[in-house]
Amino acid sequence: MNIILFGPPGAGKGTQGELAAERLDLVRLSTGDLLREARTEGTDLGQKAQRYMDAGELVPDSVILGIVREVMEAQSHRAGFIFDGFPRTETQAAGLADMMDEVGTSLDAVVVLDVADETLVRRLAGRLSCAKCGVVYNRHFEPPREEGKCDVCGSALVQRADDREETVRRRLEVYREQTAPVLDWYEGAGVAIHHIAGDRPIDAVQADLTALLSA
Ligand code: AMP
Repeated sequence: MNIILFGPPGAGKGTQGELAAERLDLVRLSTGDLLREARTEGTDLGQKAQRYMDAGELVPDSVILGIVREVMEAQSHRAGFIFDGFPRTETQAAGLADMMDEVGTSLDAVVVLDVADETLVRRLAGRLSCAKCGVVYNRHFEPPREEGKCDVCGSALVQRADDREETVRRRLEVYREQTAPVLDWYEGAGVAIHHIAGDRPIDAVQADLTALLSA
């Protein structure tokens, strides 16, 4: 099964994708996570991507399609993928369709997580994560017990560079201008598109998502 988890930054694609991938034994492929790893490792790819990411702009399609191809080839023995944060442009969507054709597989559905803009800004601009163990908090919704410190391991909490409010607003604009039209592309291609209200507790969204994917 191959699914695209679609939606604006901050809609909960990462959280929901991780839970669903584990439950359904699928590979979660997050281009954002792959780019951040490359950046941390200081690879050429990471350096190339950094300035786009910090500005809230999209990394060029050719770079993104290259990393997706690599993961898809390496994980081709697995039962399928949950794509998170990819595709973000029509060129990426067309590239994914070609890659799937090459290996004789196809996309089953696009699942859109819908969340209002103001909630997205509060979620993203309030997001903090532990530099050491990766646990994610939110200043407004899920604050740590002690300010700036991880409940689990006590390490310092950090904010992603692109989660600053100004950059968050740019990321939402980029989503509306360049990424939202990808849904029309899928509609034209005859792919099933489902919407889930993402503005609810994690468990409620996950229950709807797994019910949908298990049907
Ligand atoms: P994310 O964690 O998915 O919100 O991605 C963080 C940043 O990585 C985005 O704001 C983009 O700069 C870059 N990025 C991630 N995925 C893509 C993609 N599919 N196409 C272009 N840029 C991407």
